[in-house]
Amino acid sequence: MTEELFLKLCIYIIGGILGLCVGSFLNVVIYRLPNNMSLASPPSHCTACDYSLKWYDNIPVLSYLFLGGKCRKCKTKISPRYMIVELANAVFWLLSIAIFWNISIIYACAMAIVSSVLICIFFIDLEHMLIFNRFTLIVALGGIVAMFFDTKTVWYDHIIGAVSGGLIFLGVYYGALLVLKKEGLGFGDVKYAAAAGLLLGWQKFILAILIASVVGSIVMIILNRISDAEKQKEYPFGPYLAVATLIAMFFGNIIVSWYIEFVRGALM
Ligand SMILES: [Zn+2]
Repeated sequence: MTEELFLKLCIYIIGGILGLCVGSFLNVVIYRLPNNMSLASPPSHCTACDYSLKWYDNIPVLSYLFLGGKCRKCKTKISPRYMIVELANAVFWLLSIAIFWNISIIYACAMAIVSSVLICIFFIDLEHMLIFNRFTLIVALGGIVAMFFDTKTVWYDHIIGAVSGGLIFLGVYYGALLVLKKEGLGFGDVKYAAAAGLLLGWQKFILAILIASVVGSIVMIILNRISDAEKQKEYPFGPYLAVATLIAMFFGNIIVSWYIEFVRGALM
């Protein structure tokens, strides 16, 4: 094995393990932040019986599988969300290394952090219909890094993305207030759209809006089929935006290139 290959392998292994551990911490953030609880104390415990988790109950993924998804003491079922968050975060960190490391280590680290924040936005907005400003701010900071390192865009594509993203969502926000006499979107979505536009640049932001709308429509149709009562419920748009942002962030440049090639081929 060459030295370079060995080094790359080490980076992936460390990135994957760190990704799992940070994913474990994200579970704490997702549960405690919306409930106004301290992130530091008390230490991890079972919410049903207060059993304090030992270090060997806290190993990402492995502890969950070993305990069969149940508390060691009271056997209460633990949500599979804990394992899903850990695995998803590890996958996104590995993708950040695979896609952005060769461009710049700073870029790869920034996108890894942004993907972790997007996981938090997804789960917290899904449950609490709330996007924290501090999360939106981190996405925007990631956008500033992307302005410098995104290879397929120039810096002002990101500024255009931020301004148009904010304005479009502001239009939808006030449009819904005017026509429907209620909030169609939360104001958190408006701020988030501006940050996502800065992160992605306007080309990939358009892609993200398309993805969010299509996925959102499909999920709505499925939910409406399942039960009529679901129709009356309000759904947050943030989770769709977060998923779409992740797809556009990691694969947007490839998808946009394909699309341009496709249109060029069709016109020739
Ligand atoms: Zn318990």
